[in-house]
Amino acid sequence: MIYGDYHIHSTYSKDAISTIEENITSAINKGLKEIAISDHNYFHGYGIKFGDRAKINAEIERLRTKCNIRVLKSAEANLIDQTGLIDLSHEEQKNLDIVVLGYHKSYAKARWLTKFVPHIRMRRNNPKTIAKNTQAYITALTNNKINIVAHIGYGAPVNTVEIAKFCKEHNIFLELNGRKNCIPDDEMREVINTGVQFILNSDAHNYERVGDVRLGLTIMEKYNIPEWQIANLNKLPDFTKRC
Ligand SMILES: [Zn+2]
Ligand SMILES: [Zn+2]
Repeated sequence: MIYGDYHIHSTYSKDAISTIEENITSAINKGLKEIAISDHNYFHGYGIKFGDRAKINAEIERLRTKCNIRVLKSAEANLIDQTGLIDLSHEEQKNLDIVVLGYHKSYAKARWLTKFVPHIRMRRNNPKTIAKNTQAYITALTNNKINIVAHIGYGAPVNTVEIAKFCKEHNIFLELNGRKNCIPDDEMREVINTGVQFILNSDAHNYERVGDVRLGLTIMEKYNIPEWQIANLNKLPDFTKRC
């Protein structure tokens, strides 16, 4: 079984329906030892409001003293453009236990649109875009203390093997997402062969789905990924090795 689930959304994400407390209770009932609350950050169309980051951290700190499960402060930061910009400042990263990074098609319009129109270009599926998107991920991972790359290949096509190699070198976990797998079939074997550590996450948007990693387990079986290569299966991942 998995020991931890590091990609859980609370009501601070506008597309999720359970509170942080409901998610924690669900995780305890399911026998998890550790979770991370990873709400969408500002740039996502359903992201948290400006000012909410401190509120979420305070709420987690308050709740974690009352329960016997480890609750990590996290965020699902957004990759914004092909320069590798993300929507979570270094200052905000310092106040979190871990950081998850994802690319999303949904983005907050009014405040950002004029400045970040190139974002749309990232969805094109051609070699030039793939090379630029891959470099954007590498730059984001170089410039920020990111621990998990979520649903790689979703929305923006990339060279998943190149990113997996980088993750392996820097002890960043590559997520097997509980809702979608976007690693192309013909790249999966090579991704596995890089020796990268995968992590099974639910990407739950309601308390019932906390710890639901069935899709990831299916992928694991389909491609014969060995147990040692899954960071949170029958063990806890070590986020301190990130370099
Ligand atoms: Zn996501
Ligand atoms: Zn998510």
